[in-house]
Amino acid sequence: EAMSGAEIRRRFIDFYVSRGHKQLPSSSLVPDDPTVLLTIAGMLQFKPIFLGQEKKKYDCCTTTQKCVRTNDIENVGVTARHHTFFEMLGNFSFGDYFKKGAIRYAWELCTTVFPLDPQRIWVSVFEDDDESFEIWEKVVGVPRERIVRMGEKDNFWSSGPTGPCGPCTELYYDFKPELGPEGADLEDDDRFIEFYNLVFMQYNRTASGELEPLEAKCVDTGMGLERMAQILQGKPNNYETDLIFPLIEKACSLAGKRYSDLDERSRQACKVIGDHTRAVVYLISDGVTPSNIGRGYIVRRLLRRVVLKGRLLGVPRGETFTPEVAKIAVEMSPGCDPEVRQNEQRVLAEMAREEQRFCKTLDRGEAILEDLLAAGGEVSGADAFMLYDTYGFPLEITQELAWERGVAVDVAGFETAMEEARLLSRSAHEQVDMTLNDYEGDLAKSVQPTEFCGYGDNLRCDATI
Ligand code: ATP
Ligand code: MG
Ligand code: MG
Ligand code: MG
Repeated sequence: EAMSGAEIRRRFIDFYVSRGHKQLPSSSLVPDDPTVLLTIAGMLQFKPIFLGQEKKKYDCCTTTQKCVRTNDIENVGVTARHHTFFEMLGNFSFGDYFKKGAIRYAWELCTTVFPLDPQRIWVSVFEDDDESFEIWEKVVGVPRERIVRMGEKDNFWSSGPTGPCGPCTELYYDFKPELGPEGADLEDDDRFIEFYNLVFMQYNRTASGELEPLEAKCVDTGMGLERMAQILQGKPNNYETDLIFPLIEKACSLAGKRYSDLDERSRQACKVIGDHTRAVVYLISDGVTPSNIGRGYIVRRLLRRVVLKGRLLGVPRGETFTPEVAKIAVEMSPGCDPEVRQNEQRVLAEMAREEQRFCKTLDRGEAILEDLLAAGGEVSGADAFMLYDTYGFPLEITQELAWERGVAVDVAGFETAMEEARLLSRSAHEQVDMTLNDYEGDLAKSVQPTEFCGYGDNLRCDATI
């Protein structure tokens, strides 16, 4: 019998509690921190302690933290391991144990409590962190060939441009040990999955970019619950674990389909529905409501994407379906956040209202598309773009409806229209980490401020619908 997600969570917490860690609740998805829009990691609630701005109440603690990472939205259903909403299990030390303690705990937990085959665990260390390398090799006994030195992108962690940061060491699981160490690449997603990150919080990065040593050396870790479930349940991706699959099954049954019969594209739609529904439920429960700015805009985008994917999957028109899927997420929520159940009525009502509002816009767009199709000939790029820009129709939906009638869509023309609009827009070209600052809030402000009239051209969330 495979280990359930709930059991993985329980074992992680119990392990650290039995080693003197205080268990603390997840903090809200809306952080008490102006530098980030949403809670992206377990460390956020402890930032003032790391920085020495607040006195610690415990030497070390453990949590399961609900997280939302909008920068992973385009990976949802595309990679096997990324969500917008996920749970991060963590253990934290505030000047108590450091590298050796954290590495030994992690190894013991992973090889005895879960337990993973030690030979399938690979680790990465920051390129010049010889100390961690030695601990893995000499203290824990991981052979050198399974310890990989990596650069700043992967092995130096920070929650934003300023604030606490430090080198990290990560644990990966090998799905294909038969390939051996020769030429192995930890970035090969088919072979490896990163599941546990141990960050050695050692510096504060100041606004000018300097690294100041922190008063106390701290540890901040994060283990992805859904990724552990994928590994321990032997599933091909996070979505088919017991943490998310019940939502997908619900969506499928509403559409009168079976997941096992679906093609890749419909399966991807299911994954987005499962993922985004969880995100929306927890965000609304934490007080975020759909709107056109900031966090509210994120909820709106996520929910609207669920609606579109539902249409692709074939859920019946004229009935709200997102609250039905959401009920499953609410039912499963207490282990992560006991407040969601208390907020159930408010969450479901908000979702129903937003879904209905969006469906009205979609229906108007569909009527226009019907007229275009009836007029004969292909759908022009300009019209496809108008449907996208004004009625929230991703190109794929337009193509789908046109395809049913044997009509072509001028995709190249659509892209040209899109590009023209993009050139007109001011803020489209920056490469910014969307988890930082109020990037999305700023973007949302540059989009129509009143009624929502489709996605702005620079919000590519629906590009892969
Ligand atoms: P990846 O390289 O796979 O994108 P990451 O290095 O960005 O992951 P960390 O910031 O180190 O992730 O977060 C700690 C842990 O949280 C990861 O090891 C992983 O188990 C989990 N995690 C991170 N991002 C996601 C996500 N989008 N969905 C699910 N789990 C995640
Ligand atoms: Mg990532
Ligand atoms: Mg990584
Ligand atoms: Mg990482």
